[in-house]
Amino acid sequence: MSESQETLSNLLQETRRFPPPAELAESANVKADAYERADADRLGFWAEQADRLAWTKRWDEVLDWSNPPFAKWFVGGELNIAYNCVDRHVENGHGDRVAYHWEGEPGDTRTLTYADLQTEVAKAANALLELGVRKGDRVAIYMPMIPELPISMLACARIGATHSVVFGGFSADALRTRIEDAEAKLVITADGGYRRGKPSALKPTVDEAVQSTPSIEKVLVVRRTGEQVEQHERDVWWHDVVDRQSAEHKPEPLDSEHPLYILYTSGTTGKPKGILHTTGGYLTQVAYTHHAVFDLKPETDVYWCSADIGWVTGHSYIVYGPLANGATSVMYEGTPDTPHRGRWWEIIQKYKVSIFYTAPTAIRTFMKWGDDIPAQYDLSSLRVIGSVGEPINPEAYVWYREHIGASRCPVVDTWWQTETGAIMISPLPGVTAGKPGAAMRPLPGISADVVDDQARPVPNGGGGFLTLQEPWPSMLRTIWGDDERYVKTYWSRFEGLYFAGDGAKKDEDGDIWLLGRVDDVMLVSGHNISTTEVESALVSHPKVAESAVVGATDPVTGQAIVAFVIPRGSAGEDVEGEDFLKELREHVARTLGPIAKPRQIMIVPELPKTRSGKIMRRLLRDVAENRSIGDVTTLADSTVMNLIAEKLPSAKSED
Ligand code: ATP
Ligand code: MG
Repeated sequence: MSESQETLSNLLQETRRFPPPAELAESANVKADAYERADADRLGFWAEQADRLAWTKRWDEVLDWSNPPFAKWFVGGELNIAYNCVDRHVENGHGDRVAYHWEGEPGDTRTLTYADLQTEVAKAANALLELGVRKGDRVAIYMPMIPELPISMLACARIGATHSVVFGGFSADALRTRIEDAEAKLVITADGGYRRGKPSALKPTVDEAVQSTPSIEKVLVVRRTGEQVEQHERDVWWHDVVDRQSAEHKPEPLDSEHPLYILYTSGTTGKPKGILHTTGGYLTQVAYTHHAVFDLKPETDVYWCSADIGWVTGHSYIVYGPLANGATSVMYEGTPDTPHRGRWWEIIQKYKVSIFYTAPTAIRTFMKWGDDIPAQYDLSSLRVIGSVGEPINPEAYVWYREHIGASRCPVVDTWWQTETGAIMISPLPGVTAGKPGAAMRPLPGISADVVDDQARPVPNGGGGFLTLQEPWPSMLRTIWGDDERYVKTYWSRFEGLYFAGDGAKKDEDGDIWLLGRVDDVMLVSGHNISTTEVESALVSHPKVAESAVVGATDPVTGQAIVAFVIPRGSAGEDVEGEDFLKELREHVARTLGPIAKPRQIMIVPELPKTRSGKIMRRLLRDVAENRSIGDVTTLADSTVMNLIAEKLPSAKSED
């Protein structure tokens, strides 16, 4: 194998730099010295962060790594997460502070202060106990984005039940397999929620799923939409059982390694894995990273993470991190285009959101819809804006900074996974001079590096596999019920290293750029080329909003690059023509070099995405190789592939 096949080519050059605003740098929660302190004493650094929480019993040992890869953090310590996220703030005199400004899709609102949240969580905890849920039991939660969702999670955490939140867009079958895998005793759900301007039912899906799940004893149902639901003997209404409970409940002190939740990864790749997160280490790292990466000032900031709580981003950065830090958050039920495409910016204007956290897929959608939409709203309250979920293309980063962040807000591109539990690689907004498209450096206390196939760190300027070198507090502890799969999936590729599945490169300064999943890497004429770099080159064309790139078998080059492109709303009519495709191919060749020139470009109206909004390149590979299209069940919208297939005759191939 040649040298170039062992690592990833580094094609994209990006020279723009955005230093932090002086004022932010001056008053930042975390400054540059944090890196040095953490380097000098990593475990001491994490102990210091754990001390930001309230423990009922102090730990004996920060980390037990005597049986790798099975870690124990803050060994012997005890705490309660719900107490830390709610009661603690009330006791400290912040009961009147808003925890959530909740906005329903139809425009109805609810405001929950920390005192309100304490009452609701205590009642829900008492209700769970009445329904027979005990410490150590598993509770499945299948809900829309309504306040009862975080309340249910916190109620579980309060009594020591382990929750398994299943995203409300999943099918009955997906819900059933997750209930079975965790042997959940209770499901908490709602009649439905509002999506795209109308009620979207959830209860019928639960009814179907629990037909064959013997572990389920009760189904607890929140009334949200008021639509008719079928009543079964196992069903109980939230308003019947929770509302009449006492608002007094003493939080249960739990071992630092007590299982907090199971969360199944979205399944972009293979059978869902039940990722297990525990208590002390998890809360320590989500609270610290939320404080450091978003520079949260709980007295003055209004924070909004637009994710769904069904994903890890929502667990860590809508529920546990912000609440542990006493933040005031916005929580929104619906979609960004209901009733109009300015809804998110309207929400930012209305609540004076100062910190905003979203995903590249959303940013690229807004680029497609046009700059004039956010321009109609007052977004001047914003001061830090973040991104997570996929590599952010430099052009999308710059658009986000300019059109949402008024060319003033630092963009924090945060790399992490369901498995890592919390942010691992990210700029610090008061320290880092941001580079568009780069996740930059591991956070203080985190060790990550890019290695070649022999696990040797690649030199600056090289690309390879992103690995984590040392255990971290919020790391997954195992795959639920399958220690062997845990070891095999994450710790076998490279001896002693956690391998995350992602490709990355280090630039000349040693800063880290994510290059997408290694499974997606293309091998063109002996060069490993990342899909991300070619997609970013396409998105850097002023008429392109979004693109997806795959490698298709090619008799000459091994694989050839096939690109799918969504034009920007402002691009005009000529995007269907031959000339435009030629222009795009030349543009890529100029930006990255002739090796990266796509063999073929197809203009499409949509791209296939998972329910969490990530591009599913596997299906596009089927199209590019003229195969019948594979399993589409994990797609958010299965009709997208038909739209693309209809476009096939217009597919262009040249040279
Ligand atoms: P599955 O593991 O089931 O295929 P998933 O990996 O999409 O699903 P998540 O854990 O939500 O589920 O996503 C983590 C992955 O998302 C990372 O491994 C990486 O590929 C991508 N990712 C997240 N944040 C970033 C980022 N800032 N830059 C680049 N990629 C990112
Ligand atoms: Mg993954």
